[in-house]
Amino acid sequence: MSDGRALARAFLEEQRLLGTGWVVLSTPETPGLRPGSVGSQGPAGLTPGASPGKDFPPSGLSFDPPAGDLFSNDPISQARSVAAVAALVAECTRCRLCEGRRHAVPGEGPDDARLVVVGEGPGRVEDETGRPFVGPAGELLTKILAAIDLPRERVFICNVVKCRPPENRVPQYDEIGACVPYLFRQIELLRPKVILAMGGTAAQTLLDTKQSLGALRNRIHRFRGIPVVVTYHPAALLRNPHWKRPTWDDVRIAHRLLV
Ligand code: URA
Ligand code: SF4
Repeated sequence: MSDGRALARAFLEEQRLLGTGWVVLSTPETPGLRPGSVGSQGPAGLTPGASPGKDFPPSGLSFDPPAGDLFSNDPISQARSVAAVAALVAECTRCRLCEGRRHAVPGEGPDDARLVVVGEGPGRVEDETGRPFVGPAGELLTKILAAIDLPRERVFICNVVKCRPPENRVPQYDEIGACVPYLFRQIELLRPKVILAMGGTAAQTLLDTKQSLGALRNRIHRFRGIPVVVTYHPAALLRNPHWKRPTWDDVRIAHRLLV
């Protein structure tokens, strides 16, 4: 591959992790938020670089996806524990990503975790081990959590899709649609105090929006009433260390909501 193509590829990958690619590729009328799915859009949140002050917490999108139906026989909404969700994931063939997986990666962490971290999907090492965020991006995530005195063992760590997309490509809409009931059920069962959405895919999926990561940062969103803080994906930070500082700021906001 020529240098130019390699650069373009690295750039596009960064845009993807940032979530900006979706906006660049959208039609002039940037796709709106689905009517009915989004609650109040409160006043503008923190301006970049501002420290959380009297307007804390700043408000953002609120998303209330349909809750599990007690009377349906959908096994995911019937799962009574996070372990039961993991057992369903291990056997799942709801989308094509099951074909190439070595291990499904349901996520891990204690049932009483106060923080849930959501990434995009398993990478190579995660697929090999069946554990989330254990490759290079995972090492950085562990350090980020340590910076707010949170050992990763106290956090529930998971992804939007539970099986590795080939070549780590972005999960497609239908794959996300097939898999997201697992994530929603996990969150419903865990009822954490805060959700940290890392990267565009996690943020856009949890908030049911196509807004860019840049537009979603610096305000507190809600998923079924649970505060959601949006930040960069650790894999993007490995490529662009300039984003570390803003990520620390985001993670500090999450920490402040936890205490
Ligand atoms: N990237 C993710 O989004 N999730 C993982 O588990 C690992 C890398
Ligand atoms: Fe099932 Fe999700 Fe894996 Fe697709 S990615 S096969 S929906 S667990």
